Amino acid sequence: MAYKIIKQLTTSGQAGNIKVKVIRMWESINFATDELMSLDMILMNEQGETIHATIWKNLINNYKAKINEDSIYELSNFKIQEDTRYHPVNNALKVVFIFNTNVKEVEDCSDKFPDYYFEFASKDTLLARKNIDKQCLDVMGLLTKIKQIESRMILKNTANPRQKDIREIELLISRDQKVKVTLWGDLAHSLSEDVIGKHTVVIVTSTMVEGLQGMLSLKTTNGTRLYKDLDIPETWKFIASVPYEENVPKLMEVDKSTQGTLEDQMFYNRRTLQEITQMRHENPTNQDFVFTSRATIVRLDNDMWWYMSCNVCNKMCTKIANKYHCNKCNTCPEATTPRYWIRIQISDHTTSTTCSIFDDEAQRMLKTTITNMLDSLNGNYEEVPKSIQQLCGKTLIFRFKLSDHNLTEGKEYYLVKEHLS
Ligand SMILES: [Zn+2]
Repeated sequence: MAYKIIKQLTTSGQAGNIKVKVIRMWESINFATDELMSLDMILMNEQGETIHATIWKNLINNYKAKINEDSIYELSNFKIQEDTRYHPVNNALKVVFIFNTNVKEVEDCSDKFPDYYFEFASKDTLLARKNIDKQCLDVMGLLTKIKQIESRMILKNTANPRQKDIREIELLISRDQKVKVTLWGDLAHSLSEDVIGKHTVVIVTSTMVEGLQGMLSLKTTNGTRLYKDLDIPETWKFIASVPYEENVPKLMEVDKSTQGTLEDQMFYNRRTLQEITQMRHENPTNQDFVFTSRATIVRLDNDMWWYMSCNVCNKMCTKIANKYHCNKCNTCPEATTPRYWIRIQISDHTTSTTCSIFDDEAQRMLKTTITNMLDSLNGNYEEVPKSIQQLCGKTLIFRFKLSDHNLTEGKEYYLVKEHLS
């Protein structure tokens, strides 16, 4: 039987037969809705060529039981399409299963197919693909830091909020470049803290690169797999190329105030307002200065509850004639964004103090975006909306993060990070 080689596959005409090994297989889940979208695979032929393959949702049940990772199949009657989503391998085309695609397992004990397949990215490739979500890359690195698993609410302001486990790690990928990786769900559990203090070479597959200033971080995808200390030649080559001896994984610090159940969080570092307002820096390196307090909103600042921010520098703009002017940029920015800034006076049985509630937190509290809120006012932006006025009299648990202003200068303008009740 003559097989087509992957390089010969085109989007026109009959695709023909291919003989391929399923290198990796994964379910693609829609992050926002948690729905299964497709079953995806990386296929490789005897020549070592690879291609992405997709079985869309409606056909998954026909094929799922017939296909296993690491097995070899003869495939026929499939479609070849441009891979319009992301490319898990360096190939712009993909195999798409149709209703009558034939899958026949082939007994083949030849050693033509490798056990693993990776497309490792160098530091230069990582930098070149920064913030371009098109081509996935695989990364090998020496584990240098690992955080404890945290449980985090995701998609908080949507119809489908969910609790997810996450674990952050840091990898040294070349002599002078580290990357941060956030592992979600099951991936978060694929590394345990036993690795602390032991040399560990980690491979993370099918990731995308994000970059902010000098720091690179890797975004995982549905196809991401994590391997630890794999005995392949690349591992040994890599070990020889990085400062191996001095780099052993250490435990990173965790923001403990967002750990545990809501009840744990509500009572995290619970203080009275008086205790909070009297707090000063003592040993700043050992504390996170996040506190919770139960207090009542007694008064609103009626002069201001929102502001227009400059899209360039995020600072507040002032209205001059009919335009918004940014003092920091010293110009009228092309684009501006309205943001909440609600100033309230809160008190408990010990004292009272002023604090500010900004954008995200205000949106959570009021359950509406600033844009919707402004739209509902028919141009009367000066007036404080009813739903904000109604905050008065409410008793809530506030989560504060104390700033240097609070702690060294004793300034009493506190920032509400979250309300928990
Ligand atoms: Zn500006």
